[in-house]
Amino acid sequence: MMATVETALVEIVHLSSSGAQFDLASTIRALLRHLPLQVHRRHVKGHLDKHRPFSQLDWWEQRNVEVDSKAQSYCRLLESTGRSAASNPRFFHEPVSLFIDGVKSSKLDQAHIMELVSLPALRTYWSSKDRLSKQSIREVDWLSLARAMKALPANLQRWTPKHISGMTGVGKFLAIWNRSAKSSCPRCSSCPVEDHLHVPRCSAPTAAAEWSKRHLAFRTWMQTQQTAPEIEAFLFEYLKTVRQPSLGVPTVRAWSRHPHLFQSAISSQATLGAQGLLEGLVSPNWRHLQALHFSYIGSKKSANLWASRLIQQLIRIGHYMWKDQNRLAHSEDSSWYTARKREIDIGIREQFAMGLMDIPPRSQYLFRDSRKTVLNKSLEDCQHWLRLVSRERAINRRSLARQRQMIFDLARPANPTSTRPPGASP
Ligand SMILES: [Zn+2]
Repeated sequence: MMATVETALVEIVHLSSSGAQFDLASTIRALLRHLPLQVHRRHVKGHLDKHRPFSQLDWWEQRNVEVDSKAQSYCRLLESTGRSAASNPRFFHEPVSLFIDGVKSSKLDQAHIMELVSLPALRTYWSSKDRLSKQSIREVDWLSLARAMKALPANLQRWTPKHISGMTGVGKFLAIWNRSAKSSCPRCSSCPVEDHLHVPRCSAPTAAAEWSKRHLAFRTWMQTQQTAPEIEAFLFEYLKTVRQPSLGVPTVRAWSRHPHLFQSAISSQATLGAQGLLEGLVSPNWRHLQALHFSYIGSKKSANLWASRLIQQLIRIGHYMWKDQNRLAHSEDSSWYTARKREIDIGIREQFAMGLMDIPPRSQYLFRDSRKTVLNKSLEDCQHWLRLVSRERAINRRSLARQRQMIFDLARPANPTSTRPPGASP
């Protein structure tokens, strides 16, 4: 009994704003602070009338049963009047309350608040980038997408938003970030500026082979997951249009037990486009259709889980295409690699030629290895070394320039004709 009481007290002490009935609990706490009385808490177990006659319960347990009974009566009253939820006005003494569309939330769910604050801006951003229109945003199965994102391994959780936004290590951004003089695709010669959209569409033989392999594996996955045949047929065909846009939205002749829902799913998916499909933006109608299919074949599988895994499969196809691009880009046989290595080697030679003059003591360890040893490192290590040394030299040069300017400013009254310290940048 003591353990139960202590647990109850801990729950009260650690009141969580995202816990159920936070509005009620925080109001009670606020009221307790204002009472000119000392209140002793007591834990009373609920529903004890199911185990003992009412007359054998103590006074507190009887009151608890009465309160439960009144709450149930009120629920029945609401149901009889066609209302699904009671009005929830702000309580007197309630410290903070959140109203969404005029309805008060009983808890302050941080994730929900974050959505309310950031989603409108995010929607506007995607709309301005022509990724999702106001209409197509409503066609996305966001619940399944959220579930899929949480289930993905950490590396794919990081990779997905970077790649979808396009700000990733493709030629276009490597050039913008000054990490490469070339912005072209490392796999084919037909793309002078490689962006994230080119990665799954590259015409290089390795890209075509990788796509074909992953596309077929996707269909095999759908089959092993007992996907409804019409869903499998449509998604397999529609995914082809990532690389062959001229195919357009496929007219699938697959028979469906729910033709109206199937057609709605096709129309809904078409608004999200083939690129959207590859990024895991799927219509919720597929999930509904799959739930009906599982029910028809007597499967106990969850359509929610199926939808989440379907999205993960789609995202993984894009990631496999990215890995193929990376494999080629970092292969020592590629022309991109050769050109990049040449650039980096020139930078390393220049840094060694400049020596330790502007390198702060804390970073001089970078010159511990000989120039030949540094040049023989992997491309990635060479890039890392060059980035570090260039940054340290630039920071130190700026710092020295500021120091020279400070000394010059202090000395200026004695030499009014000069305006700039010797060696300072114009
Ligand atoms: Zn290419």
